[in-house]
Amino acid sequence: MQDFLEARLAERRAQQLYRYHKLLTAAPGPLAVVDGRELVTFSSNDYLGLATHPEVIAAQQRGAALGAGATASHLVNGHFEIHQQLQNKIAEVTGREAALLFGSGYMANVGVISALVGRGDVVVQDKLNHASLIDGGRISGADYLRFAHNDVAALEIQLQRAREKRDGKILLAVDGVYSMDGDTAPLAEMAGLCKQYDAWLMVDEAHGFGVMGSNHFPCAGSAAAAGLDQDTAPIIMGTLGKAAGNAGAFVAGSRALIDYLTQFARTYIYTTGMSPAVAAGNLHALELMQELPLRETLNARIRYFRQRAAAYSLPLENSTSAIQPLLLGCEKTVLAVSEQLQQSGFLVGAIRPPTVPAGTARLRITLSAAHSEAQIDGLLSALATALQSVAVPV
Ligand code: PMP
Repeated sequence: MQDFLEARLAERRAQQLYRYHKLLTAAPGPLAVVDGRELVTFSSNDYLGLATHPEVIAAQQRGAALGAGATASHLVNGHFEIHQQLQNKIAEVTGREAALLFGSGYMANVGVISALVGRGDVVVQDKLNHASLIDGGRISGADYLRFAHNDVAALEIQLQRAREKRDGKILLAVDGVYSMDGDTAPLAEMAGLCKQYDAWLMVDEAHGFGVMGSNHFPCAGSAAAAGLDQDTAPIIMGTLGKAAGNAGAFVAGSRALIDYLTQFARTYIYTTGMSPAVAAGNLHALELMQELPLRETLNARIRYFRQRAAAYSLPLENSTSAIQPLLLGCEKTVLAVSEQLQQSGFLVGAIRPPTVPAGTARLRITLSAAHSEAQIDGLLSALATALQSVAVPV
């Protein structure tokens, strides 16, 4: 066994695809201490700066008085009043009848898909869907059809195929905002096709929840921003580890959907419940999302970043979300630029295959309401210098 493990690890290193942990000491706002040096972080998903908000931390500390852990699964004796309050708050914020908590977004996606579809059904997915949606589809045993990224015509062909092939259920699962590209799915068109082909739409709001929405539900996510509601986007999954700055996840939808998942989602049933302290921190974070103008600040930072990056002629992608990737293609180049940025005081993720398709390695720059304009200016100037030194044309 040892030989096998070492050979595979050596192969990864030779491909420049080996991944390392960075040992962080947390610091307030968008700062992190790495190897004793304070860096400005442009690689976290803490889009609203809530992870280190003093009020959230205080709420989580108070919540710990209820117990450090839930001590059992939600259906045994791990479900506290604070969990119920958090579920009610999520339902309120997302404009859905009910919500159910999961340990993580990964577990939620796997649990929901495998509870809703199985053999004899079809799950249709965008080619760039998150790994957890893909794994949920695999585990479910349903037939698996994919379509080219955000291509509505290609999606329709797959829905037609699915309908011709089967009388069973069809589930269309997509990311609302793509985690490595930052672009959004054409959800209104997709919902129209779901109606036409009698398919169920599931939207992964990992990167939409808390940062986009409608006038009525400003934090609900990308489905609300596209004008969809509980009827047209019946299944939404959001994680609490990104804009909420914490951990855990939820599914929101009709009362019947939530009752069904409570009975049939194995990743809900057979695992320890969310810690009450985490639930208390999340509840306070959601209240702050509703009360404070954090989304407005984030949007101002995104606009500022894009304007200034254009002035530096940096090759931007078509993203208006907090995720602003810079596609460099080659793994070596991405690593070199990311290392140079770190030397200059900035932490930016170097994203390589298999997380993204071969030949599309990229820097994944993420913005937060906690960033100042000066920090964004600093990053862009360091980036322009780093790109020049590794001879990437700007
Ligand atoms: N879906 C998407 C689109 C994601 O980006 C992520 C996190 N990388 C997840 C699901 C999983 O969420 P969690 O981190 O809560 O497991």
